[in-house]
Amino acid sequence: MVIVMSSQATQQEVDRVVGRIREAGLQAHVSCGEFKTIIGVIGDKKIISALPIEAFCGVEKTVPITSSYKLVSRGFQVDRRIVDVAGVKIGDGSLVVMAGPCAVESLEQLLGCAEVVKQSGAQFLRGGAFKPRTSPYSFQGLDKTGLEYLAEAGKVTGLKIVTEVIDVASLELAAGYVDMVQIGARNMQNFQLLRAVGKLGKPVLLKRGLAATIEEWLNAAEYIVSEGNFDVVLCERGIRTFEEYTRNTLDLSAVSAVQHLSNLPIIVDPSHGTGKWRLVQPMSMAAVAAGADGLMVEMHTNPAEALSDGPQSLNPANFLQLMNDVAELKSFLQGRLIK
Ligand code: PEP
Ligand code: MN
Repeated sequence: MVIVMSSQATQQEVDRVVGRIREAGLQAHVSCGEFKTIIGVIGDKKIISALPIEAFCGVEKTVPITSSYKLVSRGFQVDRRIVDVAGVKIGDGSLVVMAGPCAVESLEQLLGCAEVVKQSGAQFLRGGAFKPRTSPYSFQGLDKTGLEYLAEAGKVTGLKIVTEVIDVASLELAAGYVDMVQIGARNMQNFQLLRAVGKLGKPVLLKRGLAATIEEWLNAAEYIVSEGNFDVVLCERGIRTFEEYTRNTLDLSAVSAVQHLSNLPIIVDPSHGTGKWRLVQPMSMAAVAAGADGLMVEMHTNPAEALSDGPQSLNPANFLQLMNDVAELKSFLQGRLIK
């Protein structure tokens, strides 16, 4: 349930309502808008409906939230959130780009990629230190050494660092090295991990599961936010369909759907979304045109030698071209996107 306080409500009246909710063993999340304060109530439905909230001074109305996710819904907060990752804002109308190799392979490889990413104007360096590979015989990542290389590349370039964590142990380790942690498609419903990142308080990039509906994905985000961490950015990375030409089917309609349903920012990963480097530029353009808050793109200084996902990685020249193309499109679209 959402409680809308009247525009004249005093702080004391807000505090009284919040106090009563918490006394009843429920969670209260307060969101102060420009004109009105809204209080999201989470907990047992029976206890919520027994509370005489509308009798409290300063309460304008109560509105039930019918979706299974609450805090990440626009019913709870109409304004879309801006997630600040070490000074880089995601969801403020600008286009944020995270780029880099699929996996951290060596310090030389990572620094080479980081230099190109920096030169392109992208804000984030990505790179996997823990690789959840489909085959146990594929390269599994450099673990802690990979994190050290990422931190080093961040220091050298000033780029923000995002990397995937695959369990609570890797999360605890990565937290000391990176600016943002990524929950990959394969772990989107690893609820223990979602709760752990929710408690950690570091910004989270939550990828859509391989076969997850939008509702399941938003519920996964709700797990994180319900632990108190609102700094969640969603990432559409394609879903499994009957199509086999592409690695996944990039669901660009999810961008508009999520922006309608949720207050969280959403970016698009056309690399995993297609599995083919030739499709990455057109799908990046389409994602920007659809209103995505950013992109995640795999780029390698030598895709033919990449230890992971070479066929979907752009080479530096193509990546720099893509960055010019999306910047031009973004400025053309300014003020033109359908809301
Ligand atoms: C990745 O970004 O490195 C990755 C493994 O992506 P996904 O979880 O979307 O497959
Ligand atoms: Mn990859």
